[in-house]
Amino acid sequence: MLRLLDLFEADDPISLSEKYYERLRRWEGRLNMFITLREWGEIQLVHEPGKPLSGGLIPIKDNISTRGLRTTCGSRILENYIPPYDAYAVERLREIGLEVVGKTNMDEFGMGSTGENSGYGPTLNPWNTGHVPGGSSSGSAAAVAVAGGAALGSDTGGSVRLPAAYCYVLGLKPTYGLVSRYGLVSYADSLEQIGILARYPEDMAYILYHISKLDTRDMTMSRTEAREELRERLINLYTGGPSGLDGLRIGYSPELIEMADDEVAGEVYRALDKLVELGVKAEEIDLGFMEAGLSTYYAIAMAEASSNLMRYDGVLYGSMEREGDYWSSVYRTRGMRLGEEVKRRIVYGTLITSAGYSGRYYIKALRIRRWIRDMLIERLGRVDAVLMPTSPSTPPRLGEVEGVDMYALDLYTVIPNLTGHPAINIPAGFVGGLPVGIQLVTRYFNDDLLIRIARGLVGVLYDPSKEVEMDG
Ligand code: GLN
Repeated sequence: MLRLLDLFEADDPISLSEKYYERLRRWEGRLNMFITLREWGEIQLVHEPGKPLSGGLIPIKDNISTRGLRTTCGSRILENYIPPYDAYAVERLREIGLEVVGKTNMDEFGMGSTGENSGYGPTLNPWNTGHVPGGSSSGSAAAVAVAGGAALGSDTGGSVRLPAAYCYVLGLKPTYGLVSRYGLVSYADSLEQIGILARYPEDMAYILYHISKLDTRDMTMSRTEAREELRERLINLYTGGPSGLDGLRIGYSPELIEMADDEVAGEVYRALDKLVELGVKAEEIDLGFMEAGLSTYYAIAMAEASSNLMRYDGVLYGSMEREGDYWSSVYRTRGMRLGEEVKRRIVYGTLITSAGYSGRYYIKALRIRRWIRDMLIERLGRVDAVLMPTSPSTPPRLGEVEGVDMYALDLYTVIPNLTGHPAINIPAGFVGGLPVGIQLVTRYFNDDLLIRIARGLVGVLYDPSKEVEMDG
C-alpha cells in the first residue's frame, strides 16, 4: 500500500512507483478503473531534488483537464478530446514532482452514484466485483483501494465521498472556494469542488496543501485569511503536529443515522463509541432539515447541468457525427454520443429553468438551499462537527439501482455541496465483506479538522494499510 510521503525519504522512489504501477496494471484488467492508463515505457519518471514527490505517480479523474492527455469525462462525445492545458490542481501536482499515471473512469460528466453510467463500461468494486464501487469518482476510489497513494476526484453531490465509502478509502470534499476549479469540466459549478482520495491522512493533508494555493483564474476561490490559516494548519498535520481529539464536540442525530440500513447505522454508532473513547463529547442534535436536501440538490444540479452541457455539439470539442446540414449533425452527435442519464438531466434541467416553471422549481430550490445552509451553520455553532453515515447502504450489486433509487444513495452527501461546508468519508469497517464509511462535516475552512479526526481513528477504527486480496 503506497504512502506518498514515503517518497520523500526513499532512496529509490522510482522503484516504489514501479511496484505501484504494476499493482494498478494487474488490477486494471479486472476492475476497469481507467479510461486512459499510460504505458510504463511512455512515462518519464525522473528524480529531481527540488521536487519533493518527484518520481511519484497519481491518477486523475477524467473530468480534470490534463495537457496532451485525453480527457473524456466518461462521455463518448469527448472520446477524442485532448486538452491544450492542465487544470490548476494538476499544474500544482506537477510542480511537486508527481506525474499523471492515467485518467480514471467515472459516471458520464459526474452524473451518477454507482460508477455504472460511464461511456467506457462500469468500474467494479475491488472488495467484491459483483458490487458497484460508487460514483462518480469510481476509478479514482478503486485505484486508491488497490494500490494506495492518492488520486484526484470531483465532488458535486458526493462523488468523492460515496465511492470512498464503498471502496474503503478516505475521501475529502474541501470547503467551496478552497481549491481552484480551473480546468475542472463543469457539471454544476455552484456545488462542486475538486477533492482528494487517499489511504493515509498525511498524504491527503499534503496534497490538499498544494492544490489549495490561491489561483486568480477561478473567481469563486476564497481570498480570506481563514483560507491561509487553514493552509498553515495543514503543514502541521503532515509534519506530525498534535493530533488529539480530546474535548472535541461532535453532534449526531439518531433519527438521521437510522434512515440508513440497520447494519450501516450500527457501524456509525460503533464509530461514535470509538470517538468517545478518544475523548470526544458526543451531543445529540436535530438534523432533520437535511431530509430536504435531495430534491433541492437534484433541481439545482440539473438546472446548472443543462446550461453547462449546451457546449457539447461536436463542433468545439470532441467528435461530430456528420449527417446532412449543421443542425442535423449536432442532433445526431448528441443523440448518439450522450448517455441516457445525461440526456434526462438536460431535459429536466431545461424544463425547471424555463419561464413559467422556474418560480415553482428552480427559485424554490434556491430558497430551500439557503434555509438548509443557515440551519447547518447554526448547528455547527454548537458543535465542532456532525457525524452521519456517508451512504444509507453498503455498495449495491451491479445493475441493482437506477433512477430515483440511485439518487437516494446521495441522501447524506449532497448537504455539504448545497452549503459549501467541507466533508470527509472515513472508512469505518465492513459488513458482509463490503465497506461502510462515516461522514463528518465541519465549519468552513476547517478542513484540517476532518483530516485530524481521520488520523485519530487510524488504528482504532480505520486501517489504512488494509489490502484487497485478489482471489481466483
Ligand atoms: N450522484 C450525484 C449526481 O449524480 C453526485 C455526483 C457528483 O458528485 N458528481 O449528481
